[in-house]
Amino acid sequence: MALRNITIRGDEILAKKCKPVKEITPRIVEACEDMVETMLAADGVGIAAPQVGIMKRFFIAMPHVDAEDEETRDRIYVMINPEITYREGTQESSEGCLSVPGYMGLVDRPYKIRIKGTDLQGEEHEYEFEGFEATVFCHEYDHLDGILYSDIAKDMMTAEEYSEILHELQELHEEDDDDTDNAEIWEKKKERSNQ
Ligand code: ZN
Repeated sequence: MALRNITIRGDEILAKKCKPVKEITPRIVEACEDMVETMLAADGVGIAAPQVGIMKRFFIAMPHVDAEDEETRDRIYVMINPEITYREGTQESSEGCLSVPGYMGLVDRPYKIRIKGTDLQGEEHEYEFEGFEATVFCHEYDHLDGILYSDIAKDMMTAEEYSEILHELQELHEEDDDDTDNAEIWEKKKERSNQ
């Protein structure tokens, strides 16, 4: 296994539609292994083939980062030729991307999705996800169509400002036991930029 270079926004490869995988070759298997390593090293929760310069329709996702048990938390999905078969509801999500370092954005996503795809053994699976998990899969899926979250974000800020605001709000909420939600973070950003 080896780390791959991550393609950065501005590279035209990230704006192109990827081609279906015709056959799961050893090269695809090796690319997936390298992508897992690259994603983990960069502290990401997903990475798509064009982000390592491969114009093919597959991605890796590790969406259960908040899960209680370790086994679920560490679960990694390989999605080859994925297809989103169902979308329901809406949510606003705060997103970052390994190809857009140093930024966070506010994006409208479906709340619930079903997505099917093939694993490295060539077996097809269909999964249902909601909330953050659904966001991760939609974000990675968009990469295969040449769409970055920053192309569709309603608002953006630097990752530095984002974590500042998050810390501020978390301290504020420590007493009332409430979770900080996305809307609040982006409200706060607006307040700050109006000052
Ligand atoms: Zn991304």
